[in-house]
Amino acid sequence: MATITCAKTRPEMCSLRPMAYEKASAQPGRTGEIIEFNIDPAKYTSPLAKFVEFIQNKESGMDLSEAEVIVAGGRGVGSKDGFKLLEKLATRLGGAVGASRGPVDSGWIDYRYQIGLTGRTVKPKLYIACGISGQIQHMAGMSGADVIVAINKDPNAPMMKAAHFALEGDLHEVIPAMLEVLH
Ligand SMILES: Cc1cc2nc3c(=O)[nH]c(=O)nc-3n(C[C@H](O)[C@H](O)[C@H](O)COP(=O)(O)OP(=O)(O)OC[C@H]3O[C@@H](n4cnc5c(N)ncnc54)[C@H](O)[C@@H]3O)c2cc1C
Repeated sequence: MATITCAKTRPEMCSLRPMAYEKASAQPGRTGEIIEFNIDPAKYTSPLAKFVEFIQNKESGMDLSEAEVIVAGGRGVGSKDGFKLLEKLATRLGGAVGASRGPVDSGWIDYRYQIGLTGRTVKPKLYIACGISGQIQHMAGMSGADVIVAINKDPNAPMMKAAHFALEGDLHEVIPAMLEVLH
C-alpha cells in the first residue's frame, strides 16, 4: 500500500497485520536477543488520557483471522436477515462469516466482521465472496486466500474476474443449491 524509505534515521520500526504475509519457514539455529525494559509508568502518563475501565470483548464464534474457510457477504446480500443464509453455509463448511464494508455501513453486520483495508486481513484456504463487487479496498484484505469463489449477478464485477471459480447468479438461489449438495 505504501513505499516508505527511512534513509537516515534509525532505529526503524514497522508493524504488520496478522496474516498479511506468508509465514516464513523456521531457520534452525537462528537466534535473536530479547531485551526487557523496565518502564516507569509515570513517564508515560498523559494529561489528555485516562484509564476508565477494561471491557472484555464478548466476541463469540470463530476468529476470522484464524478461519480456514470464510463465507463473506456484500451489499448483494440485501439485508441483515440475508446473512443467516451465509451463516448456514459457513457452519456447513466449518468456517466463519465475514463481510465487505457495504453491509457494515448499512448496519446489517458488526464492524468486527469487516474484511479489507480498514477491516481485517484474512488468508483462508477458501474464500466465498457472495454479492461483493471486489473493490480494491476489499481485495486488500483477502486477495491472499488460496482459493476464491465469487457468487455475483454481474459477470463483470472485479471479484468475478479475480476469483478462481466465478458463479454467475443470484446468491439467494446459488447458496441454497450449494447447501443441498453439501450434506
Ligand atoms: C478509505 C476507504 C477504506 C475502505 N475500506 C474498506 C474495507 O476495509 N473493506 C471493504 O469491503 N470496503 C472498504 N471500502 C469500501 C469499498 O470501496 C467498497 O465501497 C465496498 O467494498 C463495496 O462493498 P460491496 O462490494 O459489498 O458493495 P457493492 O460495490 O455495492 O457491490 C455489491 C455487489 O453485489 C452484487 N449483487 C447484488 N445483488 C446480488 C444478488 N442477489 N446475488 C449476487 N450478487 C448480487 C452486485 O452485482 C455487486 O457486484 C473502503 C473505501 C474507502 C474509501
